[in-house]
Amino acid sequence: MPLTFFTHKAYDAHKMHDGHPERPERTQAILAHLQEAGQLAQFDQRNPRTVSENALKRVHEPLYLRKLVENAPTSGLVMVDPDTHLSPGSLPAAQLAAGAVEEAVELVLSGKSKRVFSCARPPGHHAEHDAGMGFCLYNNVAVGAAAALSHRGIERVAILDFDVHHGNGTVDIFKDNPGVLVASSFQHPHYPHRLFDLERPNIVNTPLPAGTDSPGFRKAIERDWLPALDRFKPQLLFVSAGFDAHTDDPLGDIHLREEDFSWVTKLIVASANQHSEGRIISTLEGGYNLDALARSVAAHLAALV
Ligand SMILES: [Zn+2]
Repeated sequence: MPLTFFTHKAYDAHKMHDGHPERPERTQAILAHLQEAGQLAQFDQRNPRTVSENALKRVHEPLYLRKLVENAPTSGLVMVDPDTHLSPGSLPAAQLAAGAVEEAVELVLSGKSKRVFSCARPPGHHAEHDAGMGFCLYNNVAVGAAAALSHRGIERVAILDFDVHHGNGTVDIFKDNPGVLVASSFQHPHYPHRLFDLERPNIVNTPLPAGTDSPGFRKAIERDWLPALDRFKPQLLFVSAGFDAHTDDPLGDIHLREEDFSWVTKLIVASANQHSEGRIISTLEGGYNLDALARSVAAHLAALV
């Protein structure tokens, strides 16, 4: 069964101000690299549907959702937070990025796919229940996890987040939901400085000091993620796949390389094969050095199939 690969041209129309690191060239660089490497042709390539209102309401406050729609500009930019803006193309893009993960859940739970990657912008893991922040509008991975739990027979899902930034939004949304295990590794102290020390049985926070390299990362993941996954036995695995912990990334100071993203992905695949019938849904979060991002996504996908 080939990997399902979601992407959409509409992501190019989500633009922030000039010089902003979260830019259309990110997904463009990934697609160009996968095309050139002959990897893209091996996937079942699809355009996602727009997310349903119902799926958004499972994870976000109705007032926040309404404000996003009301504030969406027809020209220029509107500020959501100092790092995050709405352009005319932003909401359609965000609705597809969240919709891809919602649709991925249908595909995987109906047995039509086992592995899904969503090559999408904007990212999602900083978006909290009632606030967008850190380049994120809708929490894409959370939309998927909540959609999965709405299916009969699905009671436990896990979200694994190896972005260099803490997945505060995902933690915020699921902190009191014992059906979702959230494990996030992140540079600390570092943006976003929220919820990183929250103690809950279903939250696994793995802070990494600046300068952490491959052995330090691998040791921390084996120490924190493996026992948590073995205890929790998720029926479906989600990945917040951020690649800004790459040593060449301008937004972090963690020194991973492509082979580390391949390593952590293989660990996730092994856990999925053991507990989750091999089912993995991965969605793009950060990664801001275009070359490092494209090569890292390629390594992630090669390990995923
Ligand atoms: Zn990040």
